[in-house]
Amino acid sequence: MAARNPYRGLPSVDRVLADERVRALSAEYSGDTVVTLVREELDAVREAIAGGGAAPPLEAIVAAVGRRARSALAPSLRPTINATGVIIHTNLGRAPLSDEALAAMAEAARGYSNLEFDLEAGERGSRHVHLEEQLRRLTGAEAAFAVNNNASAVLLALSALAARREVVISRGQLVEIGGGFRIPDVMAQSDAFLAEIGTTNRTYLRDYEEAITEHTAALMRVHASNFKVVGFTASVSIQELAQLARERRLYLIDDLGSGCLLDTARFGLPPEPTPQESLAAGADLVLFSGDKLLGGPQAGIIAGRREVVERLRRHPLARAVRIDKVSIAGLAATLNHYLKDEAAEKVPVWRMIAAPVDGLARRARRWARAAGRGATVVDGRSMVGGGSLPEEGLPTKLLALPATPERPAEALARRLRAHDPPVVARIERDTVLLDPRTVHPREDRVVVEALRAALGESNGS
Ligand SMILES: *Cc1c(COP(=O)(O)O)cnc(C)c1O
Repeated sequence: MAARNPYRGLPSVDRVLADERVRALSAEYSGDTVVTLVREELDAVREAIAGGGAAPPLEAIVAAVGRRARSALAPSLRPTINATGVIIHTNLGRAPLSDEALAAMAEAARGYSNLEFDLEAGERGSRHVHLEEQLRRLTGAEAAFAVNNNASAVLLALSALAARREVVISRGQLVEIGGGFRIPDVMAQSDAFLAEIGTTNRTYLRDYEEAITEHTAALMRVHASNFKVVGFTASVSIQELAQLARERRLYLIDDLGSGCLLDTARFGLPPEPTPQESLAAGADLVLFSGDKLLGGPQAGIIAGRREVVERLRRHPLARAVRIDKVSIAGLAATLNHYLKDEAAEKVPVWRMIAAPVDGLARRARRWARAAGRGATVVDGRSMVGGGSLPEEGLPTKLLALPATPERPAEALARRLRAHDPPVVARIERDTVLLDPRTVHPREDRVVVEALRAALGESNGS
């Protein structure tokens, strides 16, 4: 007796398309999209049958097409609650923005602007002028502009100042920042040649002096922001490098990474080099991110001596890495917070750094009450992150949810991530930890909901 062909039970594409509920999808999706969704679902069903499954009824196919349609429209990028305690979390989008920055960005995006238009002269202008005044005041630089991100700033600086020439850099600073961004690779892209000097832990001024040849264009310092070399170490100060660069008529480029404009001592943190100090010490050019400790939108900031900054502006690559108008608006609003001396209150990154522990403890206790049995509040440390201030943490209070035999920590963390919006926690020694420092107080309600849902599910099973 021949087995029944399971494919025979499958409806045709037209039969599915004729279904009322599938036809209704054309109100939201183009006809082509609906046909594609139906084809995709029938292909998936055929594959399942090939794997030994039975042909599903039309009902099930129609429902699956509906699910495919919904997920096709759902944005992939979703707001996510960061309960990890890492303030500048690269994987979670780095710096959240101030209300003022958001308003400025919405306004710039909504209509036209004088992005590259000189309103006085009534003719073409430059997008590079908009941030210059603020950046000059804040850093003391003669000239400044912003590009797409700091990696572009480094690439542009090396391409404009050192292509086919040498750049001297300490082996202790040949760093990988994260996401595979490695300083030697960027140098290779820019056509600059790397002259590595010193050792991982010790580099002296004489190492720089001996490496300089007629092919040398620049000395470069890279702030080793995401790790720390401790113990038997030596490095050369930016002042000494500046003096050497001046004597030998070389450029001194300082890649600062985090773009810290405030004195970290005010917040009980160890010192982080600032652009203003570096320029005052004699660096020709400083480069830093807009969305690390600066707390603005993604950008790379280039500030320094006018003649040097102009060379970068005129380089053809400047066009390829230019910043967009929305980021210019957000960055300008963020820089204003510093000029008005209100950054610690208004810039979210600094507000989180400055958050007093007693307030965090109160919120953690509220979360613990919602989480119920087994939940405790423990001492912990929040991290600044984003390759800033390595290993230094800020004392905080954490909600701790220990694993149980029927509820492993990883499973609980996964349930929190499955919430809408997702809540990302961290796991340490089989305990799920949530840090209120990186959660905006207005998101507390959602955290409580997510905790109840995640813990309720496991209790009910
Ligand atoms: C983060 C960082 C970069 C890259 O900056 P992006 O803004 O992420 O492109 C480059 N150099 C240093 C030292 C950094 O810390």
